[in-house]
Amino acid sequence: MMIAIGKLTHAIRLQLINNQCRRVTSFSSVMSKFDVPSRYKDEKSVWVEYIGLALEYKPLNLGQGFPDFHAPEHVTTALAKTVTSENPLLNQYTRGFGHPRLVNALGKLYSKLLNRNLDANNEILVTAGAYEALFSTLQGHTNPGDEWIIIEPFFDCYVPMVESAGGIARFIPLKLTKSEGVLSSADWVFDKKEMESLFNDKTKGIILNTPHNPVGKVFTLEELEFIADLAKKWNALVVSDEVYEWMVYEPARHIRIATLPDMYERTITIGSAGKTFSVTGWKIGWAYGPVNLMNNLKVVHQNCVYTCATPIQEAVAMGFEEELKRYGQENCYFQSLARELLPKRDYMAKFLSDVGMSPTVPEGGYFMIADWKSLENYVGLGDEVDKYRDYRFTKWMTKNVGVQGIPPSAFYSEGHKHLAEDNVRYCFIKKDENLQKAADVLMKWRAKQA
Ligand code: PMP
Ligand code: GLN
Repeated sequence: MMIAIGKLTHAIRLQLINNQCRRVTSFSSVMSKFDVPSRYKDEKSVWVEYIGLALEYKPLNLGQGFPDFHAPEHVTTALAKTVTSENPLLNQYTRGFGHPRLVNALGKLYSKLLNRNLDANNEILVTAGAYEALFSTLQGHTNPGDEWIIIEPFFDCYVPMVESAGGIARFIPLKLTKSEGVLSSADWVFDKKEMESLFNDKTKGIILNTPHNPVGKVFTLEELEFIADLAKKWNALVVSDEVYEWMVYEPARHIRIATLPDMYERTITIGSAGKTFSVTGWKIGWAYGPVNLMNNLKVVHQNCVYTCATPIQEAVAMGFEEELKRYGQENCYFQSLARELLPKRDYMAKFLSDVGMSPTVPEGGYFMIADWKSLENYVGLGDEVDKYRDYRFTKWMTKNVGVQGIPPSAFYSEGHKHLAEDNVRYCFIKKDENLQKAADVLMKWRAKQA
């Protein structure tokens, strides 16, 4: 009897162990079942990491790009009036592809700038920031294996957006052609032969960003014509990210590639209300282009966010209407913002040089790249563990000096990140007093090392 019970307990024990094993197996398969899908890489985002650092260490934040001053009053007042308007519908859903008042205002503006009559309802899509315009464009125009040419450095979301759509990113770096004297973003150029060699039968398109983040380059007519000719030769698209279109410093001139001969037909251009009106938190953007190309974006958009915030679109529309009235005048924000930014740019270039860095003076946008290598002996690079030196530099400076910049290797493909390791990106769309504080902090820190 005792033996029989012993056998039984042994059998029960085995059964229990088996169950346990099964549970362990099924637990691990449950785990892998809930991994991030293979079309996304489980990668860190420089924005998530550096916004987290800024919250923790509270540095002078010259990292993520946003103004620390007020937007034009007529724009913010327009939003206040809209949300409290007597018309209750201004707080309800609006037309999915863009609030009628906004697409009409955008249609008027870009018809003028492109010197062609845009069909506002069919050639413009309003999106949740330029991010969503890029996302809808790349999802809507990429089949598995399609190749997209991306100019390095690039705004970091281009690559995950291409790859998650099944596309393949092909890179071409901008190279600095000068090593001494005052550096300009015009000194960063792509090699024409290299560019030519990237185009092939699998090329779906090229992503252009002018004015450029992070270098500040404003592509010249000659460079744009070169790209346009290749796009035509290979029947490729151009996605032109022009979110900084109004921040251009003379003598540079912003040229919309869509205005070059036979280019409108193959170009999707992207803009941002956040950049245009200094309201980055409003997250309204747009894309415009020919109807057949825009239809693909609309399919993605209607199955994603479907429609964007109504009152914000109404206020942005009112903002454009007002600026269209002032267009070409001194007080038009499209021109006055760049005028306001110019001395900030020059001030930053000066204090970065004074501190020992070698900045590239940008022709457009509101970022400045600077080489910090000559300061390396004063920085505790060994205190940080990141793989790339620009990450170590920017983290150490945030924690120990109290000034935050962005590591530009975040804007390069894995194989080319070393090209950016001696650089940092700073943002200069900040109040003068805050730029001055940054200058003072850096100068004091530098003086202590001497
Ligand atoms: N493109 C570039 C080059 C940018 O710098 C940004 C940053 N905001 C975006 C697109 C996204 O713009 P938005 O904030 O309107 O989504
Ligand atoms: N475009 C801005 C920059 O480059 C903001 C980026 C972001 O918040 N993801 O700093």
